Amino acid sequence: MKSTSVFPLLFVLLALACAEAVAASGASRPNIVIIYADDLGWGDLGCYGNPVIRTPNLDRMAAEGMRFTDFYSAAEVCTPSRAALLTGRYPVRSGMCHDQFRVLRSNAAGGLPKEEVTLPELLKQRGYATGMVGKWHLGHLPEHLPLHHGFDSYFGLPFSNDMLPAPGAPKGRDKFYEEKNDYWRTPLIRGTEVLEAHPDQRQLTRRYTEEAVRFIGEKKSGPFFLYLAHTFPHVPLFASERFRGKSPAGVYGDVIEELDWSVGEVMGALRAGGLEKNTLVIFSSDNGPWLIFNHHGGSAGPLREGKGSTWEGGMRVPGIAWWPGRVPAGVVQHEVATTMDVFATCAKLAGATLPADRTIDGVDIAPLLFGMGAVERGAFFYYRGSTLYAARLGHWKAHFITRSGYGPDKPEPHEPPLLHHLGEDPGERFDRSAANPAVLARIDEAVARHRAGLQPAPSQLVETVAQKN
Ligand code: MG
Repeated sequence: MKSTSVFPLLFVLLALACAEAVAASGASRPNIVIIYADDLGWGDLGCYGNPVIRTPNLDRMAAEGMRFTDFYSAAEVCTPSRAALLTGRYPVRSGMCHDQFRVLRSNAAGGLPKEEVTLPELLKQRGYATGMVGKWHLGHLPEHLPLHHGFDSYFGLPFSNDMLPAPGAPKGRDKFYEEKNDYWRTPLIRGTEVLEAHPDQRQLTRRYTEEAVRFIGEKKSGPFFLYLAHTFPHVPLFASERFRGKSPAGVYGDVIEELDWSVGEVMGALRAGGLEKNTLVIFSSDNGPWLIFNHHGGSAGPLREGKGSTWEGGMRVPGIAWWPGRVPAGVVQHEVATTMDVFATCAKLAGATLPADRTIDGVDIAPLLFGMGAVERGAFFYYRGSTLYAARLGHWKAHFITRSGYGPDKPEPHEPPLLHHLGEDPGERFDRSAANPAVLARIDEAVARHRAGLQPAPSQLVETVAQKN
């Protein structure tokens, strides 16, 4: 009789001990790696149909994981896109829209508001080591750098690699094509200190990669969060000696092929550390290709327009997720997902609680990632700066305003809105508004609800927007 009552107790104790051991080892909290390219287009990778640029490591990542066809950055340019990734919110909520606060510029005094809760801040509460390598672009003054937003370590450029032309560099766009490192003066920072005022940009991808691999090696007892935000393929383009002149796609191809090598190194480090079964890796880009730079800009494939635009090519970007044993291999995912979802999903995976005092726009896409079904999602909103230009609901996208990314055209309002079916017309060529008033009405309702939920931007940002000139 006694033995029958002791066994359940032993079982419970054993289960508790196991749970504690799992928690202590970090196995219940996966490592998370985000690799973020800058201005990489939807059509720039082999696994997205590029016939020339060689990306075997990203192709392998997609073959072993999930490749999203309808993955969105939450903004059309660098700064708001990065704010959305790290906060899970449309940049209009944090005020990180470039036309208002100019965090984009090298002389801006602003930064990501301290009131914003970032993904690394949430993960640190769950015991994660948090490291950032690469381009930040959420405020370059010391008080705005990554160490003040949840990262334990930082190595990289505070903003874009074209933002401080050197004195004496030629005026105009030609200097971008010359591949002369002497023309540029974007500093390289470690922590909050300038490490090099004039880093050799040809070595950046290699150096970022070495930092990332070192971080993985040092933190492999886990759990850790690594945000590797590459400087390239933002212009001016630079590749190291090993890759320069090697791609059949020219210098742009050289740069992408070096980024692909970097992905291979990071994946190799995860495998070497035996971490692949407990690490989620997400690869994406901050916005579409910068088409005005011609052969130094990328491709959005079949999508219309590029960086700076709310046409699909400006905001629909590559999105690949990898976690062997959890993310099913070789899946092409056609459901909509966004960089804001990364915030909600990773926080949940880590067991963190999302902040309850604000709207989080991203949704937990774990059901999609793990092959368990669709997620409930409302409309996706396309902003240019702080102005709502378009909205997608299901396959339908309504444009209220259109404008090319960097062309001379003015914003063109549409009443009724242009309406495209992205499933049948991914290039957004055929306006079907006249035949679908009910669809437009549903999108209008979604927009009205979204607008009603917007709060004014934080006053702190308004005060810090002062420009030096
Ligand atoms: Mg960018």
